[in-house]
Amino acid sequence: MLKMEGCVFCKIIEGILPAHKIWEDEHFLAILDINPNTPGHTLLLPKIHEPYVFDLKPVLYSSLFELAQKLSKPILEVSQAKRIGMVIQGFTVPHVHLHLIPMNDLNDLENARATPASETELSSMASKIERAIP
Ligand SMILES: [Zn+2]
Repeated sequence: MLKMEGCVFCKIIEGILPAHKIWEDEHFLAILDINPNTPGHTLLLPKIHEPYVFDLKPVLYSSLFELAQKLSKPILEVSQAKRIGMVIQGFTVPHVHLHLIPMNDLNDLENARATPASETELSSMASKIERAIP
């Protein structure tokens, strides 16, 4: 399915809802999570509406992880975390989104760490990461 009514990520992809973008190409969009576990917490979305990551076409699935690898470097550099962790769960919004989470300890992957960030924090972080992408 290309788009789905009522899906918040489809609306962001279509430009109906705003987001702090750090990357966009033909097939993917990367935005900052507005409730980051840690500063720099990014969501990587395929532009098609697919609820379950393992239902993605193999080429898109591979591209998702290649792009995650590419974006992990600038996110790590800007966040100055120890490493970037990945989570894909899909219970909150049923549109594939890969969480790229700057981590300093194991608990940084937990949803309980999610805290709303201000517009100022998000836009400053988004422009720093965007500038760090080669
Ligand atoms: Zn969607």
